[in-house]
Amino acid sequence: MRSFGDCVRTCAAFEEIMGYMTAIGACYGCKRVFSFNAELVPSIIINGVREPICRSCVDAANLKRKEIGNEPIVLLPGAYEPEECI
Ligand SMILES: [Zn+2]
Repeated sequence: MRSFGDCVRTCAAFEEIMGYMTAIGACYGCKRVFSFNAELVPSIIINGVREPICRSCVDAANLKRKEIGNEPIVLLPGAYEPEECI
């Protein structure tokens, strides 16, 4: 089983070799650390800083948005790539 440190190194190497925009950070909603595409991930602006939102929190938010009749947040393809680094 890979440690979080291994995951960070793998993602850094992946980014360097493949040139993808891969980032690792904590979800603003649940604080879980996850990997995401910094350009595509759903986010919220807090004090001028763009904070990423994980897939679970987007799903939870969309349930509430549906209840009150709002359009769901649409996930862009690749927003959470590469998923094997989670
Ligand atoms: Zn979350």
